[in-house]
Amino acid sequence: MKYVDEFRDPEKAQTLVEKIRALVDQIDACKSRPLYIMEVCGGHTHAIFRYGIESMLPEEIELVHGPGCPVCVLPMGRVDDCVAIAETPKVIFTTFGDAMRVPGSSKSLLEAKAGGADVRMVYSPLDSLSLARDNPDKEVVFFGLGFETTMPSTALTVLQAEAEGIENFSLFCNHITIIPAIKAILDAPGVQIDGFLGPGHVSMVIGNAPYDFVADQYDRPLVVTGFEPLDILHGIWMVLEQLASGEARIENQYSRVVPDEGNGPALEAIAKVFELREFFEWRGLGSIDHSGVKMREAYAKYDAERKFSVPDLVIADPKACQCGEVLKGVIKPYDCKLFGNDCTPETPMGALMVSSEGACAAYSRYGRVEKLVPLLGRGAGTGTGKAPQAEVEAP
Ligand code: SF4
Repeated sequence: MKYVDEFRDPEKAQTLVEKIRALVDQIDACKSRPLYIMEVCGGHTHAIFRYGIESMLPEEIELVHGPGCPVCVLPMGRVDDCVAIAETPKVIFTTFGDAMRVPGSSKSLLEAKAGGADVRMVYSPLDSLSLARDNPDKEVVFFGLGFETTMPSTALTVLQAEAEGIENFSLFCNHITIIPAIKAILDAPGVQIDGFLGPGHVSMVIGNAPYDFVADQYDRPLVVTGFEPLDILHGIWMVLEQLASGEARIENQYSRVVPDEGNGPALEAIAKVFELREFFEWRGLGSIDHSGVKMREAYAKYDAERKFSVPDLVIADPKACQCGEVLKGVIKPYDCKLFGNDCTPETPMGALMVSSEGACAAYSRYGRVEKLVPLLGRGAGTGTGKAPQAEVEAP
């Protein structure tokens, strides 16, 4: 397929791996410890495992899976709020599919649906608006979730609802912003990150300038990177080039998609409908200042948080759940005692096991067998005592 196959060429991948090896030999830091490179985006995590990229890299490079999967960082209390709205009479609650299975403190949206709530999966917020148009006697709520990537389509849907005078549509806004999360990770005690692969999709909207602080204040390189195997290897090579030369700057590997200045009309729509919240609770990372958005007063009538009564509680994750440590890169998914036993893609305990972009789901589906086999003594991997199968799809 044009513009895809070129980025999956095995020979070019091998050339890049050799160049990466050569650079590793030039970096002093990795003579005494691994080099930690965080891929911020869940889309990167999925691609890294799908294409077996981690196993192609020298042992000196440790990939750390960041917080860029919006389903994974959704706290339990917000899932409870969704369930409360969905169980309100005459409500049609609409959501993207992967959010339906995220566990709340008592049930997921899927379980609420099984119990009789009218929860429907949609592919776009515009599908929700159509439902509102077609069901004037119902209140249709869209579960707005995601980073700056999905914010513009939600904002434009609210503007469309206003333009058409549709009043039985509202948004339960859980949109979050990536920059404060990166800063929180850099500030977290005990977290060592040498460089970042920046999120390609988010950057398509916000551009590259918002990352300047990573280089200016924390002296770390960040390379905005695409999602094909060659993109990821190229992004890692660009990070290493900076580390080898003792530099730290923001670079754009994904320039075929990401304009340096971002997407003006998308940013305008976001600014028109949303404003920053004082703080927002992230699963595993806690409350982070100015890391989420809410609807502006001018759009209050489309705000589900004002229209419906929600519990709005902070609910702690189950004690044994270590999603937070995985999100900060302090441990690997297979270090969590629940991995493969109580927590599997079929029966997720933590949100990282739900979305295909979650690190635990990726390890479970595509994980490196040699790392998982030693855990068989405690039954990890499949929960059946059998070795987990590394399911690597051909590039
Ligand atoms: S195995 Fe489950 S509970 Fe443990 S970190 Fe992963 S998602 Fe969270």
